[in-house]
Amino acid sequence: MSALPIFPGTADAGGRPATLGVMGGGQLGRMFVHAAQRLGYFTAVLDPDAHSPAGRVSHHHVQAGYTDQDALAQLAALCDAVTTEFENVPASALQALAATCPVAPGAAAVAIAQDRIQEKSHFTASAAQAGALAGAAGRVSCAPYAVIETPEQLQAVPDDLLPGILKTARMGYDGKGQVRVADRAALAAAWADLAQVPCVLEKMLPLKAECSVIVARGWDGAIVAFPPQRNVHVDGILAVTEAFEGNMPAALAQRALSATKTIANHIGYVGVLCVEFFVIDDGSADGALVVNEMAPRPHNSGHYTLNACDVSQFDLQVHAMAGLVLPQPRQHSPAIMLNLLGDVWFDAAGNARAPDWQSVLALPGAHLHLYGKTDARPGRKMGHLTLTGLDVAGVKATARQAAAILGLPGFEEA
Ligand code: ADP
Ligand code: MG
Repeated sequence: MSALPIFPGTADAGGRPATLGVMGGGQLGRMFVHAAQRLGYFTAVLDPDAHSPAGRVSHHHVQAGYTDQDALAQLAALCDAVTTEFENVPASALQALAATCPVAPGAAAVAIAQDRIQEKSHFTASAAQAGALAGAAGRVSCAPYAVIETPEQLQAVPDDLLPGILKTARMGYDGKGQVRVADRAALAAAWADLAQVPCVLEKMLPLKAECSVIVARGWDGAIVAFPPQRNVHVDGILAVTEAFEGNMPAALAQRALSATKTIANHIGYVGVLCVEFFVIDDGSADGALVVNEMAPRPHNSGHYTLNACDVSQFDLQVHAMAGLVLPQPRQHSPAIMLNLLGDVWFDAAGNARAPDWQSVLALPGAHLHLYGKTDARPGRKMGHLTLTGLDVAGVKATARQAAAILGLPGFEEA
């Protein structure tokens, strides 16, 4: 087992250079690899896809399935520590790696984030703990919900959860695995359509806004955070992130931040964690905070940190897993991030087109990130564009221009 901290530029007794590994080869893995390499580490990616965005830029690409025992042994032998870039990495694989290698976040934390039923129990337990410490003000609950694993539970669903959203307990992301249901008949039909897998039914809430908080927690329990981002989703997929002072009421931002830290502390989390919140209309001026879900990794809503902060969420992922001191990040510019889905590669009639990158790149403070995916499909995350500037008004203006050039949705509200 490698001793922490793992410093870049060092080598083990056999001459193997300090190497950090990641389970999963998507864009989050690619940005992690870039951050690790910039700090001086060698990198290894485990992903079955020969053309994975991260595998293509890493020193080592172990091309195999996530439960392939030989591949896991190979990854563990290559690496001083391993992290993960998507929540559906089998917890058993992380457990196997942990026998010989520091793994952050650990299998138990990832298992909670993989399952909405466990996740909600964890949020409820964290809220109770926060409530015990700070009173009602410290408590942030989840949406009212019911677990549906049996026909009896389906029958017993209380009326006041409808209309609601039926969500599969596992494997849902970007709005997939969820169905909006107006009444009991629609609920029963939706559960049948989902092959009666374990689900949660959540009450449909009147959203005023959505936000997320990204924290990094070290092996020693030290914790640093970015201020809350405000997010706009279109069709269940993140479209816009606004990261600047005043993006949401200060009191709500403070509550979201402290709830996220409690959630991380409560499970002894190590690594980067993102918690998503709803701001619901409860008649008050600010609205009320509800905790939605968590991601045991850097998050799409934190991509702006690459260009608008002195330390990015991926830098923190590297620091946390390697046992390096966690620097408190400082945001130096207001920022707006626009997600670039495959839709941008098609015109309104559905014909393939080349996005006008030159016009976008001509905008002041435009930072274009493309993930090296050559096959654009509607809804597929192909890249993102971050606009930074001296002031919020300027950033909003350039973001509006960029959205108009590329035909991006979700920006009317910003
Ligand atoms: P995913 O894992 O796909 O991100 P989420 O639970 O975050 O799933 O849901 C995706 C989006 O759907 C949310 O960001 C929000 O816009 C909307 N949504 C989810 N749950 C609710 C709810 N209970 N009430 C209102 N809107 C919701
Ligand atoms: Mg979500």
